[in-house]
Amino acid sequence: MPDTNHGTPTPDPTKGKVGTVMVVGAGISGIQAALDVANSGFKVYLIEKGPAIGGKMSQLDKTFPTNDCSMCILSPKFIECSTNPNISIITGAQIDRIEGEAGNFQITLLQEPRYVDMEKCTGCGTCSEYCPVNILDVYNENLGTLKCIHVSFPQAVPAVSIVDPSQCLFLLREECQICVPTCSNKAIDLHQQEARLKIDVGSIILAPGYETFEPELQSQYGYQRLINVATSLEFERLLSASGPHGGELLRPSDKKPPKKIAWIQCVGSRDLTAGNTYCSAVCCMYAIKQVLLSKEQEPQLEAVIFHNDIRAYGKGFERYYERAKNTPGVRFIWSKVSIIREMPETKNVVLRYRVNGNKVNEEEFDLAVLCVGLTSPSSNRQLADKLSIKTNPSGFCESSVFSPIETNKPGIYTCGVFNGPMDIPDSVTMASGAASFASQFLSDQRGTLIKEKVYPAERDVSGEPPRVGVFVCDCGTNIAKVVNVKRVVEYAKRMRGVKYSVEETFSCSVDSITHMVETIKTQGLNRVVVAACTPRTHEPVFQDALREAGLNPYLLEFCNIREQCALVHMNDKEKATQKAMDLVRMSVGRATLLEPLSQVSYGVTRAALVIGGGISGMVSALALARQGIKVHLIEKSEELGGIARRIPETLEGGDVLAFIGDLISQVYKHLFIQVHTEAELVEFSGYVGNFSSKVKAGKSGTIKDIAHGITIVATGAEEFKPREYLYGEGYRVMTLLDLDHEIKNNREKFRSCNTMVFIQCVGCRDNERPYCSRVCCSHSIMNALKLKRINPEMDIYVLYRDMRTYGFKEDYYRKASDQGVIFTRYDVDNKPEVQAVEEAGQSILRVTVTEPILGQPLMIDADVVCLAAGLVPPVENKALSQMLKVSLNEDGFFMEAHMKLRPVDFTTEGIFMCGTAHSPKFIDESIAQAQAAASRAMGILAQEELKAGGSVCSVNVLKCTGCGMCEAVCPFNAIAVDPEERVAKVNQALCKGCGVCASSCRSGALDVNGVNDEQTLTLIRAIR
Ligand SMILES: Cc1cc2nc3c(=O)[nH]c(=O)nc-3n(C[C@H](O)[C@H](O)[C@H](O)COP(=O)(O)OP(=O)(O)OC[C@H]3O[C@@H](n4cnc5c(N)ncnc54)[C@H](O)[C@@H]3O)c2cc1C
Repeated sequence: MPDTNHGTPTPDPTKGKVGTVMVVGAGISGIQAALDVANSGFKVYLIEKGPAIGGKMSQLDKTFPTNDCSMCILSPKFIECSTNPNISIITGAQIDRIEGEAGNFQITLLQEPRYVDMEKCTGCGTCSEYCPVNILDVYNENLGTLKCIHVSFPQAVPAVSIVDPSQCLFLLREECQICVPTCSNKAIDLHQQEARLKIDVGSIILAPGYETFEPELQSQYGYQRLINVATSLEFERLLSASGPHGGELLRPSDKKPPKKIAWIQCVGSRDLTAGNTYCSAVCCMYAIKQVLLSKEQEPQLEAVIFHNDIRAYGKGFERYYERAKNTPGVRFIWSKVSIIREMPETKNVVLRYRVNGNKVNEEEFDLAVLCVGLTSPSSNRQLADKLSIKTNPSGFCESSVFSPIETNKPGIYTCGVFNGPMDIPDSVTMASGAASFASQFLSDQRGTLIKEKVYPAERDVSGEPPRVGVFVCDCGTNIAKVVNVKRVVEYAKRMRGVKYSVEETFSCSVDSITHMVETIKTQGLNRVVVAACTPRTHEPVFQDALREAGLNPYLLEFCNIREQCALVHMNDKEKATQKAMDLVRMSVGRATLLEPLSQVSYGVTRAALVIGGGISGMVSALALARQGIKVHLIEKSEELGGIARRIPETLEGGDVLAFIGDLISQVYKHLFIQVHTEAELVEFSGYVGNFSSKVKAGKSGTIKDIAHGITIVATGAEEFKPREYLYGEGYRVMTLLDLDHEIKNNREKFRSCNTMVFIQCVGCRDNERPYCSRVCCSHSIMNALKLKRINPEMDIYVLYRDMRTYGFKEDYYRKASDQGVIFTRYDVDNKPEVQAVEEAGQSILRVTVTEPILGQPLMIDADVVCLAAGLVPPVENKALSQMLKVSLNEDGFFMEAHMKLRPVDFTTEGIFMCGTAHSPKFIDESIAQAQAAASRAMGILAQEELKAGGSVCSVNVLKCTGCGMCEAVCPFNAIAVDPEERVAKVNQALCKGCGVCASSCRSGALDVNGVNDEQTLTLIRAIR
């Protein structure tokens, strides 16, 4: 077994820590962590036990609640990882041994043989064509087959073949080596051995993710016995364009489109018999997504979700749920179900379920989907044992509520589903948070081992006639099943200036990018048109390919034939194809006039402004200060701490007040943090790397000027003040925070309290605020449990709509139920009523709710009624968003740049958000997000200089009259008339290239580079 030292120097204890981080697991969490760590100035080893990076997310079709294509989100990250000179991806590898300690870990990895030389293989697939052995396709959840030597999936990174040793005829019994001579690069080596690699790292991030629950273990669902029972992950593959049926939804038995599908929730979650008591946190939402995607394919489809409360607790989830509820043909049934038989002729399945408590129904479906939960595989426990990391009884990494990312071992951090079931945005956030910890820990080693990415010298294309290359993407079948891509390619070949035109299955896969780079060079292309998806996520990927090929990145023209043709015209293939041809013609016309553009470099102010001194603001301030960044923390009230000052405890029993007390003292003691209380941001200008703010602070209202490179918004949220249920009318009706206060200060009072009623969803999940506040269900349960401890005899009722105790919070829900807390469901159209009734000279607080099983009113005379009022954004958000020029969502919370890809970034570069300013969330989630915001900010602050320019406004000084119209209309304050020269001057760092100035300039002196009048007119003329 060869021993390979993988490149880092052997640590010398006298030299201190190693500036290298090992990330274990390359799902979305590991990938995000690796990118953030590398961008903050460290070398990264990204270790993946499978043959390719991407984890479970690469198997998903689209993601909720935006229905973005998973691979479209992942592939730019794949390419960024694989081309980043500071990230080494090591696949097929696992930790064998770990020695040393935080700062200086010595790791031995075991890497399985791939039987293919990764340096030589181009992933061309010729070997697969000759291989005689068909095996089940694991990536497609065994719903299809592929060859024993294969590339794992179309966009796999590394795009290199692998041999399945358990099926290869040579490796089993030395019978076949057909593949070997088919490889012109001599890459196949069936004698390859396991390798032992040694690496030295300063810190470790664990992101080994999850496995889905195996439903064979639960016979009531007939999985594997009944052919038309599939798991939800199999269903993702059935929906996917790269799935076994090219994205056409066909059921397994007869390959016909199903007309009626049942989704069964909580398979392997919230279930003592399955051994998993926790809630898997994502299944309700992915089932809703699968329903909506299936309905897109088959509008007549009947879809039924059988559930035990719909847990739509995240940002935008409630609206998504409402959308599904209001879709014709979709039913949500609150019931436990079993699959009792298969119809012999049709292979349909019959489900039995109970409605309204006792009535039993049987219903036939073409297909049943088991919404399997997320579990921690035994391999995760073994990994944890090897590293002496503690896990909880369910095998997930154990961490504290106040430090959710740190493990019990210094220098080792955790993120993603290894930490507990969570969705993609939460995984991405936590991954950035883990990167922040690693970066803080190794701060003094930043930049010691990293390399700059080197591009070839840019080719001078001036004077050359246009030689346009057109690359048209199938996007698997997402584009090709509607647009006739071959016709578009042939059409482009006949256009003037086009030298080359080609169809690509996935133009963003690594091999397509490599092909593009080679083609640009070999064909001597000097302009490139990519006809694919959205430039929002993919333009930088192709611009980078142009740079790799020695072309200026602005010689790229991007045209979106997926959203603008395939998706919007999916029912008219001919028109979609015609439109795609039109768009390509327009793009080629414009591309022929594209000119190289350049950028300017400028310095970065290594200071931060954090707005909001609650937990999130303080955590992000400390995370930055610990990396040598000067931080100005501004808080509008007199004290730091925010809303958490009113929350004594967490559901898990964490002492919040002690925690914030400690945090406040750390903040005040830190030399790099300057706290400004009673402070308000009154002016804000500048651009990423160089913002300048005026802050009015203190009782005297002194104005302070602050220069900062980044800004973090951590302005929190407030508890809604109810206007119903007699709140504020002098009765014993209080909100959750009022109750926290009462329990803390007047505990004894509750000993004589006989009956308590909690009413959930007050001021949220309604027409005015159609979002879920995420924390209220668990907070009520926490208080119910506390009250039961104070007075076990107390009758406690929780009137709820859906109990949203996701993840491990489910255990507290069960505990409350076991302790006699009565949970009664109510319907939003039939809300409970609270009345003050006079009876026998006594004032009684009477709550009436319809008992759902009996359908009869239930009257409860309560001593106290607690309203679980939702979280609302502060009214000041509007003014702040206008000052910072960032967006709010329809609910008034700050809006992130991309829900999945950039959950803590604003679209305005250099500004980040965290905590409840983003959306309602728990303390541990706010802490993780605050660390994530700090990590993203360090990506900027760690740089010596930033670049700006390119497609920005330019001024023709000969035409400019200095009238000042451009200055008046520019929304970014990016252009101003120089008082001495009397001509407009552009600040390239501020300019967004929006063109408002150019269209308002009366003397035609302004143009946006790359979108000048001639280029735009050429594009328009090409429509005709
Ligand atoms: C059916 C289904 C649908 C879903 N749909 C959505 C959705 O629409 N939207 C959404 O937000 N979420 C969805 N989710 C949840 C989503 O899959 C997860 O939130 C996300 O993929 C978690 O990523 P991760 O990186 O933490 O874990 P993983 O994706 O599991 O990645 C972990 C990686 O680590 C590797 N690994 C494991 N152990 C080791 C080791 N010892 N050494 C090296 N490598 C190791 C694994 O091979 C894997 O590649 C869905 C889940 C399911 C089951």
